[in-house]
Amino acid sequence: MRREIEERFGIEAFDIYGLTEVIGPGVSAECWQHNGLHVNEDHFYPEVIDPETGKRLPDGEIGELVFTCLTREALPLLRYRTRDRVALVHKACPCGRTSVRMQRVQGRTDDMLIVRGVNVFPTQIEQVLLSHPGLTSNYQIIVDRQHDQLDELEVWAEVDEALHRQGGQAIGSLQTTVAKDLQQALGLHAHVLLVDPHHLPRSEGKVKRVLDRRQLTG
Ligand SMILES: [Zn+2]
Repeated sequence: MRREIEERFGIEAFDIYGLTEVIGPGVSAECWQHNGLHVNEDHFYPEVIDPETGKRLPDGEIGELVFTCLTREALPLLRYRTRDRVALVHKACPCGRTSVRMQRVQGRTDDMLIVRGVNVFPTQIEQVLLSHPGLTSNYQIIVDRQHDQLDELEVWAEVDEALHRQGGQAIGSLQTTVAKDLQQALGLHAHVLLVDPHHLPRSEGKVKRVLDRRQLTG
């Protein structure tokens, strides 16, 4: 999506991060290095914790991002849990800024799916899909369980116009490759279905990528 926005508008896009509870946009933003978002630490003190134990994690480890507001009045927040999964990096940035950087958000702690006992984050699936030119950033993950059988994981992804023009054989072979890559990344078999451009529903704002159809009983 970012690539598309940059190409169509002829601009360089910068990630900006924020959350309503803290201030809205402006908590952190990318510099021209595009290698993590500099946190405005003079106002927002970030920590990354293990969401299970609450313990602080070292630099570079992905966990749950927690913010303490240092200057906010009337509604201060202390170690506010964002549910966003990121890693922090304290190394100085080539742009000259020394503030801590947070990596791009790797999904949410409450996004995690458990499929056949395996922990699956939608972002892991997204990374595999986006590593293949020919696929767009539109995809849908469907988890289903029928008649108390094993969970089934389906991944639907849209091909781009160029691959679409190449036709069925090229699409079929990419489908096999993507299924293999997902197996390797997740340790889990997924049914992969590559669909025509603009086949999947679009939504405004935050996109709903996961459809969990499992009827859990007992
Ligand atoms: Zn920088």
